[in-house]
Amino acid sequence: MNSENLKNYINGEWRVSSATDYLDVINPATAETLGRTPLSPASEVDAAAQAAAAAFDGWRRTPPTERVQYLFKLKTALEAHAEELARTITEENGKTLGEARGELQRAIENVEVACSVPTLMQGDVLEDIAAGIDELMIRQPVGVGATICPFNFPAMIAFWFMPYALACGNTYVLKPSERTPLTLTRIVQLMEQVGFPKGVVNLVHGGAETVNAILDHPLIRAITFVGSTPVARHIYSRAAANGKRVQAQGGAKNPIVVLPDADLETTTRIVADSAFGSAGQRCLAASLAITVGEARHTFTEAIADAAAKRVVGYGLNEGVEMGPVISARSKDRIEGLIERGAQEGVEVLVDGRRANIAGYPRGYFVRPTILRNIPTGGEIARTEIFGPVLGLIHVNTVDEAIQLVNGGAYGNMACLFTTSGAAARKFRYEAQAGNIGINIGVAAPMAFFPFSGWKESFFGALHGQGKHAVEFFTQTKVVIERWPKEWSRKF
Ligand code: NAD
Repeated sequence: MNSENLKNYINGEWRVSSATDYLDVINPATAETLGRTPLSPASEVDAAAQAAAAAFDGWRRTPPTERVQYLFKLKTALEAHAEELARTITEENGKTLGEARGELQRAIENVEVACSVPTLMQGDVLEDIAAGIDELMIRQPVGVGATICPFNFPAMIAFWFMPYALACGNTYVLKPSERTPLTLTRIVQLMEQVGFPKGVVNLVHGGAETVNAILDHPLIRAITFVGSTPVARHIYSRAAANGKRVQAQGGAKNPIVVLPDADLETTTRIVADSAFGSAGQRCLAASLAITVGEARHTFTEAIADAAAKRVVGYGLNEGVEMGPVISARSKDRIEGLIERGAQEGVEVLVDGRRANIAGYPRGYFVRPTILRNIPTGGEIARTEIFGPVLGLIHVNTVDEAIQLVNGGAYGNMACLFTTSGAAARKFRYEAQAGNIGINIGVAAPMAFFPFSGWKESFFGALHGQGKHAVEFFTQTKVVIERWPKEWSRKF
């Protein structure tokens, strides 16, 4: 047990918070306490914002080619500490070590893409918009940016935004999830070691009050958020009301459609990984499988078998394929939803409740669960369960399947499994979701593409990663110039 209080990182120093409330960081597999998160007051957000604002002028005047040198060093540091960071992710989040390594790799890829900012940040020029008059569009940093993070990717999410913001010359305030704050704390220590100038990166721990102080702070100009939909909506409206640019990614209820011509073995393996990977706590986890025609029988049997066989345990242990969910509360909520579904007539085909994991009696484990005969308008079909629960719905045609996909409130991801190019093309064209997978179960965009999201899964216009992030963290300045030669001295 470690009851150490985490510190905030403000203006290049680690400061003890003046918080009166702390939250225990719990290892969800063992229920051990790993540290304590201060619920920092608004005054600490203010100190961080002031430090970031003070560092801004020097940082934006640092040439982009020099700014990215810090990111190259950060990449090297992340790689050198990859194993330690992956273990920390597993300890505080519960996902398996393999999943944690994969998450970290995704974070590093975003650093790599941000290193191309000397190209990505370039503006446009057109000579002679009128005789002898030229017009330029320049990209300049916005000022102080911030990211408010969820628990489910303790390292990666901040990297959808922060490396681009810094590379573009912005300074930063990070607010990790209060439930999984250890990984980003360690990453900011590495940023300190690679020598980012003081004030360029700041980290403030906390919960809702801390977040609201970020949303209201006049010096913070750009807000990025990833988390649940009700909070995303709150972030979007409050930050926008304060005149900030904002992008807020919300929750999801991701459907995957299985056609009868899909390759059964590949589809089953991929869908099981999507639904049960990270214990179903990915924003791109498959949550509903819509089977078309004959797939009803073949796929149901195969996925039920895969669910029952999945190896559940402590993510640090060899051979474990799925860890616990994040908290006792989350486990209760997931099991409660399954129970309510059962009462409404849903068939619990594979029941993951009351999991008993040898050696981990205090862990928050829910085993893979398969539900079928789900009413399309019911709670199970509509609610983001955020646990290892896959619901099965059967329809007769591709059109019906697409209609069901598009009838959902969220639009984070939709996937199709088929060997038909025409069906794939139709799905890609018609499905209303920001990330589409064709024979892919977790359609997570690479760092050089935007992490999209539609409908209730996203509030804003520009997304994280790649060119979108560069656009989000820069403001355009247009210059129109006239330099008549008769004004110039003759040389
Ligand atoms: P959450 O919304 O509970 O918390 C996210 C952040 O918001 C935390 O930093 C928290 O401190 C803060 N917060 C919580 N309540 C708040 C409030 N009332 N006012 C202000 N701030 C508040 O989300 P979570 O449980 O940490 O993460 C899981 C959710 O994130 C899921 O819904 C998942 O789908 C979503 N998610 C979405 C994506 C995506 O790309 N769309 C990616 C990852 C996670």
